Amino acid sequence: MSIDSSDLFGALFEAPPANRTVPVLVPMPAPKPYSYSVPEGMAVEPGSVVQVPLGPRQVIGVVWDGGEDGVDPKKLRPISHVFDCPPLSKEMRDFIDWVASYTLSPPGLVARMALRAPNAFEPEPMVEGLKFVGGEPERMTPARARVLETASDGLSWTRSGLAHAAGVSTSVVDGLITLGIFESMFLPPPPVVAMPDPDFAAARLEGPQKEAAAEIVSGVRRGEFSVSLIDGVTGSGKTEVYFEAIAETLKRGKQVLILLPEIALTASFLERFQDRFGAKPAEWHSDLAPRMREKVWRQAVTGEVRVVAGARSALFLPFEDLGLIIVDEEHDPAYKQEDRVFYNARDMAVVRGRIGDFPVILVSATPSVESQVNGQIGRYSTVHLPTRFGDAALPDLHLIDMRRHAPERGGFLSPVLIRAISKTVERREQALLFLNRRGYAPLTLCRVCGHRFQCPQCSSWLVEHRFRKQLQCHQCGHAERTPEACPECGTLDHLVACGPGVERIAEEVERHFPEARTIVLSSDMMGGVKRLRLELDAIAKGEADIVIGTQLVAKGHNFPLMTLVGIVDADLGLANGDPRAAERTFQLLSQVTGRAGRTGLKSHGLLQTYQPQHPVMQAIVSGDSDAFYEREITERERAALPPFGRLASIIVSAETRHDAENHARGMRNAAPQVSGISVLGPAEAPLALVRGRHRFRLLVHGRRNSDMQGFLRAMLSQSPKERGSVQVQLDIDPQSFV
Ligand code: ADP
Ligand code: ZN
Repeated sequence: MSIDSSDLFGALFEAPPANRTVPVLVPMPAPKPYSYSVPEGMAVEPGSVVQVPLGPRQVIGVVWDGGEDGVDPKKLRPISHVFDCPPLSKEMRDFIDWVASYTLSPPGLVARMALRAPNAFEPEPMVEGLKFVGGEPERMTPARARVLETASDGLSWTRSGLAHAAGVSTSVVDGLITLGIFESMFLPPPPVVAMPDPDFAAARLEGPQKEAAAEIVSGVRRGEFSVSLIDGVTGSGKTEVYFEAIAETLKRGKQVLILLPEIALTASFLERFQDRFGAKPAEWHSDLAPRMREKVWRQAVTGEVRVVAGARSALFLPFEDLGLIIVDEEHDPAYKQEDRVFYNARDMAVVRGRIGDFPVILVSATPSVESQVNGQIGRYSTVHLPTRFGDAALPDLHLIDMRRHAPERGGFLSPVLIRAISKTVERREQALLFLNRRGYAPLTLCRVCGHRFQCPQCSSWLVEHRFRKQLQCHQCGHAERTPEACPECGTLDHLVACGPGVERIAEEVERHFPEARTIVLSSDMMGGVKRLRLELDAIAKGEADIVIGTQLVAKGHNFPLMTLVGIVDADLGLANGDPRAAERTFQLLSQVTGRAGRTGLKSHGLLQTYQPQHPVMQAIVSGDSDAFYEREITERERAALPPFGRLASIIVSAETRHDAENHARGMRNAAPQVSGISVLGPAEAPLALVRGRHRFRLLVHGRRNSDMQGFLRAMLSQSPKERGSVQVQLDIDPQSFV
């Protein structure tokens, strides 16, 4: 019997079918992947990172799931290149699809968030290094001896690294290469961070920390999806407790992601991690240098990096084998992205854990109402840490009723607060004055004609920045020189600043305490992140007496000498029409006052308010946060607001007010009739004009179990086409209502 050899080989070595087609997600606002043909000899699989032609350009895309679409491959353009990079896992692809579907975003734009490191898709180039071959030079000099001594550890060195470590010039090393004692070779690039060691320096947990860690660690051991909430006061040891979960995950050989709201500023966190694990985590945020960004991306994908500490965008890193996500300060509004793809990284972290079947840990001293409720109904398991660690006590909190203790004319600090600052400075301790407003004054007007300085592009007042001698728009960044005369009536020197910003508070402080060392901290400070890190460091070392800052100073820093926190305007966040205003104010004020007294010194928090009876103020000073949350939860439930109902907001903008309003009305009319879901608006947005675009809002409200996405899809498909300058933004679970 004869064997048909061509068939046998065909079965054994099945070549990739020539000229097949695959779907590829491209970074475009298209509803689904585009089809491309696969040139003969090219091997791709779902998840492969590829380069494809798109119109006249070449773009980066990802081969997606789904089969051939029946189009003749000859009619399609071929994939140009497959990168030498591990393909995005099925888990990652499912996550991207899920986020796209939930946020109603084009999947290509979500995938693009996973590929934000353009030069990282090919392997890092090898670096030239030296290998010790052996032998000794005939003529031994002290410099040569030092080089040989340094290299005797058997590790591989770079030429300049070895010279530097031995304290000699590179010519000494070159001499030894010529003699054949060292040999040049190519080495893999060094890892961006050393390997963390789970047993490096474990803390001895105490009291409730032990039980909390035991519960959290047992969740990690099970290795399945679960969500735990660590709810503990500032300084209770929440970080120590979740470090135990990280250690356990590392022992299980999995990677860890720690999300932090202000990662660029938390150098102290990285050091603390290093003290515990013997190595720093890799960082991921927008201030990372591009080369570093590429290295971190690549090494997270290949698994060399075991722990990443990052901002919300780190959630889209395609880890090789992620096994735990920590969301620190889970209530923080910075987790919400409001640009292109609108998503909340806290919520999407939970989704990623569910898809990858691993645990997620949320951490906060003031958990969001959403997470509290999820804890109450048993969806999340909650562990409590009710007291500060060691002999540190929470600060004593008091309200200053500004109606009774009014500041002197032209000032914003009541005599009570000034006395407290003075005592603190006398004791050589630090005071923090918190005001969540950058610049000198939020409004400037002409005393003669009443003219108010407004942004030409936005419906917002220009904020005076006296230090820079500018008026700035905090919406669009527009800036102009502060004029000497009113542009309306021409009168000279009659412009007045209304209300305070941090610069103005600093001026007042300097008037009262000319000898004190004062630092102003806000995000627009000259010198950027680097300078801020230095200033934060200086404060921690006690090199300032009085710190005046915006919410930047509220997050995560540990200032050992800080014993007084003064809130300049505790009412500031309560005034806007945001349904979360009370919750946000409570969280922010708790967090800021929590900066005081971290090391056992007696500490105080003073809150200046015109509404001392307000439930938020009462909750803060009484320390009864349970009662506050109880009240908030009841009110949310009554109004069917999240998490007892669902919200989506639609922002329609256009170059003319008429176009924006018209389109918004058209969308409203396209809404299907569905019981349990209603559409409110359109109404002109509180921020009616931004960067020259007029804005209208629609708010969609649904019952908890309603199909919000289905409703919105139906509404969008029936809506008029977006013509001319009209743009529509969809925000599921909105946090912002302006
Ligand atoms: P939180 O994250 O709740 O604000 P931290 O974990 O930062 O609290 O702890 C507050 C301070 O107490 C830190 O300086 C931390 O190192 C210290 N600390 C907490 N628990 C322990 C412990 N078991 N052993 C030693 N130090 C601890
Ligand atoms: Zn503006």
